[in-house]
Amino acid sequence: MIRLFDSVHGDVRELELRDPGRISMYVCGPTVYDLPHLGHGRYTLVWDVARRWYTFRGYVVDYVSNITDIDDNIINRALKEGTTEPEVARRFEQEWWDAMDLIGVARPSRVPRATEYVSDMVELIASFLNDDIGYVTSDGVYFDVSRVPDYGLLAGQPLDSLRAGARVEANDEKRSPLDFAIWKFAKPGEPSWPAPFGDGRPGWHTECVVMSLDLLGEGFDLHTGGLDLRFPHHENERAQALAAGRDFAHHWSHNGWVMVGEEKMSKSLGNFTSLSDMLAQTDPRAYRLLVLRSHYRSPIEVTPDTVADAERALARLDALARRFDLPTLAGDAMVIGSDYTWSGLAGALYEGLALVLDDDLNTPLALAQLFEAVSAANAAADRGDQESAKELAGAVAVLFGSLGLGLRASADVDDDDAEDLVAARDLARAQKDWAKADRLRAELEERGWVVEDSAAGTLIRRP
Ligand SMILES: [Zn+2]
Repeated sequence: MIRLFDSVHGDVRELELRDPGRISMYVCGPTVYDLPHLGHGRYTLVWDVARRWYTFRGYVVDYVSNITDIDDNIINRALKEGTTEPEVARRFEQEWWDAMDLIGVARPSRVPRATEYVSDMVELIASFLNDDIGYVTSDGVYFDVSRVPDYGLLAGQPLDSLRAGARVEANDEKRSPLDFAIWKFAKPGEPSWPAPFGDGRPGWHTECVVMSLDLLGEGFDLHTGGLDLRFPHHENERAQALAAGRDFAHHWSHNGWVMVGEEKMSKSLGNFTSLSDMLAQTDPRAYRLLVLRSHYRSPIEVTPDTVADAERALARLDALARRFDLPTLAGDAMVIGSDYTWSGLAGALYEGLALVLDDDLNTPLALAQLFEAVSAANAAADRGDQESAKELAGAVAVLFGSLGLGLRASADVDDDDAEDLVAARDLARAQKDWAKADRLRAELEERGWVVEDSAAGTLIRRP
């Protein structure tokens, strides 16, 4: 049984599945008009970890995540650069996938694009107009939120209090300030699509409704995204689905914010300006480790310091991989738990992880157990208990792989001879043959390696 925080009910509860053994989930994707930022990295990593873990546990996960390829920002960028909207969208969608590949986020099962669904959206909007749930103003078609009795469910506030707090806008043609645009009439020079109620383009909140229902069907299990999407985006998606008489997502979960330190984000402080900028400077696995260290609902601080700290933890894991010559897992492939034998020490570790990860995806507790197992594996090897050491180390590698984090036995060692020297030196040290160990160290240094001793054995790196 999978339990996850539910944003509607405000508590952790069972993810009740429409089809036993299958999890259908929809994750709101990016608008492709700029480089991905750190917040994009976090939500994709959080939900990638969830997807991987549930897959590892034996569920089939249908993971749909969209690309918003038409909106004001894309139009403005195209105008500024003297290019077209499709060109801007294509370029930044490529940047997006490049970044996702680097941080090891597996491709969604399906990736719908807003522009592929315009006719479905036109049909939905026409039905709203027909039922007087939508209404026309001079600049577009709006959705009347008062037609949805429990509007405000995701915001956690009733309609009256939302209305009282709403910003009064210049557009006095709207029936209520909370009403939102579902269609924007074409302005000269802007891309537009034909519609019986006036040519134009869809508002942002409508695309996810038609795409999720088309690809996952009614009553799909889980709708997720960053906390910033909870209101109004998700509220408005839900309102439209309900107004259309469709059974929408049964469970909503949201991940926390990304903080960039006390100071405002700025290049002069050495903070990362975008996800791509960060990935160019760091081990791409570091962001995943940082995300795993915090609970997905908590805010995380992403600064050069916290990332460097994550890199040090990665070095400890890679040292384990080298000491026991562990295989590198993860990458785009999903690791599946039933492919392994879980008994003894490995089985206990797996069970411990399942307890905390199945219960609201508690990755910090899982990580604590995994790092304890790293220490235990090294300690067992130090006292000569190779069997326990190897069993634990192997389980650690597979279980990190289940969360999408691959250990690297040869991080940047592409020198087979050096690896042999490291192994020989570790053996010499284990046999307390210090003279030989020193000789091997000198030999490695001659080959241009910096040699360090650690609890896990000899570490080498380029200066
Ligand atoms: Zn959405």
